[in-house]
Amino acid sequence: MWEDNVRKVVPYTPGEQPKVSGLIKLNTNENPYPPAPGVEKVLKEMSVEGLRKYPDPTCSKLVDAIADHYDVPSDRVFVGVGSDDVLAMAFLTFFNGTDEILFPDITYSFYDVWADLFRIPYRQIPLNEDFSINPDDYLAKNGGVVIANPNAPTGVELGFDLVEKIISNNRDSVVIVDEAYVDFGGRSVLPLIDKYDNLLVVRTYSKSRSLAGLRIGYAFGQPKLIKYLSDAKFSFNSYTMNIPSLELGVAAAEDKAYFEEVVSKVVKTREWTKKELKALGFVFEDSKTNFIFAKHESVARDHIFSELRKRNILVRAFNGERIKDYLRISIGTDEEMKTVIAALKEILG
Ligand code: PMP
Repeated sequence: MWEDNVRKVVPYTPGEQPKVSGLIKLNTNENPYPPAPGVEKVLKEMSVEGLRKYPDPTCSKLVDAIADHYDVPSDRVFVGVGSDDVLAMAFLTFFNGTDEILFPDITYSFYDVWADLFRIPYRQIPLNEDFSINPDDYLAKNGGVVIANPNAPTGVELGFDLVEKIISNNRDSVVIVDEAYVDFGGRSVLPLIDKYDNLLVVRTYSKSRSLAGLRIGYAFGQPKLIKYLSDAKFSFNSYTMNIPSLELGVAAAEDKAYFEEVVSKVVKTREWTKKELKALGFVFEDSKTNFIFAKHESVARDHIFSELRKRNILVRAFNGERIKDYLRISIGTDEEMKTVIAALKEILG
């Protein structure tokens, strides 16, 4: 019975990537603006002949470009194939004990999948009613802590001091702070890596840098933490990052001005969208991300979802008990969001 020996898992379900064009696609928190112009330039000039060779297993150019961008030493940076890869590697590396790791009940729904995959014991701690995290819930003995901050899919940020409280009270376990959305108005705990050797800060190119298709994620931590992560990576696959990703990733990191411009456009559109949604009777906690997680005060979620879909607007709906009334709406361009608001006005009558 070979099936008895299979590592069985219930996989993560990614948001739909529809095959049809012409949709307003607001279901996976992609950035509506193109990547930095330097990315296109490097792509056009890229040598096909160079693909003959293996990529640099240490990813040193990309690591150095990220280190430069954030003004940290290169030995504090790790890169991977999207932050999913970085996070998976971090779970595998740092959560090898017998105590439960802790993360919220409503958070990135890949965390429990990795924990199951790697047979890591875990406990999901309920968020408060307003979807905030109570740091005191994370002070019990544990095998590790994972916090998405700002959290997804809620969009809610936990204040800097409260994140530090969790890190400083867990010196015997690794605390992963997943900052996938922090560029849209959150405060990063990156400066705390100097102070705490148990902190890993994880970031991505997929949202604020408009490069979800390239698959680049990265992490910051003290050299010892990064070394352990690299040892696990080199025991799994030496060449995780392909040559185009490494080259284009450098070009994106180098253009700080473009990055800031895109982020501020998304933030401005988000603030406009919040006002409009409120006026239409949606309720939501304040979002510091590039999406808004909202429910309508009287109209059923699934009705709104399917009516939007009929109008070629794709948003995301999750099925957990506490979030089954909510829609997660990624922030698109001004024009896209105006179309969404007009459609909602029609739907809500
Ligand atoms: N963390 C969070 C909180 C996310 O929402 C996502 C996006 N699905 C990721 C990590 C992974 O993003 P990526 O692998 O594209 O970097």
